[in-house]
Parts: sequence; C-alpha cells; structure tokens
Amino acid sequence: MMLAVDVGGTKLAAARITDDGRLLGRAERPTPVATDEAAVFDAVLAVVDEVRAGDEVACGVGCGGPMLRGGEEVSPLNIPAWRGFPLRPRLAEALGLAVHVDNDAKALALGEGWCGAAVGHRDFLALVVSTGIGGGIVLDGRLLDGAGGNAGHIGHVIVEPDGRTCECGAQGCLEAEASGTAIAARTGHPAAEADADERARAGRLVGRGVASVVNLLDLPLAVAAGSVALGYGDDFFAAAQAELDRSARIEFARGVRIVPAGLRDEGPLVGAAAVALRALGHPIGIA
Ligand SMILES: [Zn+2]
Repeated sequence: MMLAVDVGGTKLAAARITDDGRLLGRAERPTPVATDEAAVFDAVLAVVDEVRAGDEVACGVGCGGPMLRGGEEVSPLNIPAWRGFPLRPRLAEALGLAVHVDNDAKALALGEGWCGAAVGHRDFLALVVSTGIGGGIVLDGRLLDGAGGNAGHIGHVIVEPDGRTCECGAQGCLEAEASGTAIAARTGHPAAEADADERARAGRLVGRGVASVVNLLDLPLAVAAGSVALGYGDDFFAAAQAELDRSARIEFARGVRIVPAGLRDEGPLVGAAAVALRALGHPIGIA
C-alpha cells in the first residue's frame, strides 16, 4: 500500500493506492492562498491525515515544478508561498515514512504507463494541459529525469515566436499561449467558458508543441490530461491531432497519436504512487 499526495496550485489531494494501482479513500481540500509556507504545508499534512491508515510502506508525491531533484526543494510556479521549500525532508520527518517526490507531470507519465492510456508503450509523452502545462517523457521504457530532474517541460517549447511573454521570461511558450491561465488572460473569461475556436486553437498549439517533441525523440504516442485538454474534449483533441498530422511529417513520426489520459481524475494520485514505486525499484509496467 502506498500513500499518494498530489500538490497542486488549486487543490491538495491524498489517497491510499494499492500495489495494483487502485485508489482507496481519497481526500481533497483547496490549496490555501497564503504567503506563509507553513500554512500550505499544514494543509498538506491535514489532507494526508484524512486518508492515512498506517499500512503504507512509502509515500509518493507529485508536485508542480520547478524543483531540485527528488523534491529536496520545491518552488511550484503556482504556489508562491513555496520558494525553495524542503518538501521531501519535511514530509518524511512529519510522516515518519520514506517520501519520494517528483514533478506532477512526470508522475502522471509514470501513472499512465503503469495503468492508464500508455500501458504497454515504451516510448511516449504525457502532458498536462491545465492551469499550466507540464509533461513527462518515457523513452526506451525509462522516465527521463534530465540534469536537474526537470526533463519534459513541454510548456516552455516555443509555439508562437511573437507570442505572449511567459512566466519564465521567454516569449511564445506553449504555456503562455494555451494554458488555462493564458486562455483566461486572452479571452477575459474563465478558460472553461472558451468558445469552439479558442478550444481548437489550444489544441492546435499543443499539437504544434507535441510535434516538435515527437520529431525530436521518436515517440509514437502522446497522452494528454488536465482540465483544458479533457474539459475541451473533442474540440481540443481533433485540432491537436490535425496539427500533429500536419507537423510530424518525417517518416518515423507519421501516425503519431494524441489521446486523452486513461486515468482521468485519478491520474495525479496514481502517478504519485508510481513515483514511490519507481523509487522502491518495483516494476510498474514500464521498466
Ligand atoms: Zn516559458
């Protein structure tokens, strides 16, 4: 049994996850809008307390990036109270349990490879198109970490060279153009109220970013989660697929598919459990 924690800018969630990926007992609460790092951490502990039963062998956490490798320090863009917050050591101390932390989008990639839409695939991209845009890449059956553990940040692939300025300082990043935050800023309405044209535009730009990644890495599959991708549904996926068909033209990349994530709203927590399983050396579908 794993304890799984999902730390997001909007909500905090925790659950117990069985060794075959089933979710038991789930709790959620809003992420405090606080400038005080302790208030956010206390809310994490409270949501964990609601589900913890004492039979968990480890705790896996998915958290927004950027972070130092293994979550030794996290600075989620959408949790301003945490800048260089020592999440992994603080949580391990509080829980008295081994804690393993990774970027939430990398966690999602592990979860989708374990028991979601990428089961049986050794090469795929998983991405979250939500308030922000993140991603995780599985290549040759292994989740890529990169020099600092931040591999897969597809939100900062540039899709509009003259586009909006991104939080990161660059111009025209995918996240600055097609995230929920960007769509709300562009349209003046919540992203969920976007019209069909705006939904298709988000899909098209995500398809453009994904095309660059699959061309670069020889990936036949992209799995998309998040409130924008899943909430926009067919409008989004049809436009993303059409853009991929147009832009992933080199022979090996043709036929690449972009599909909805299989784990739906359980993805972040199943993925967080997969972070712990991976750290423990368990086989989770992808080697
Ligand atoms: Zn950026």
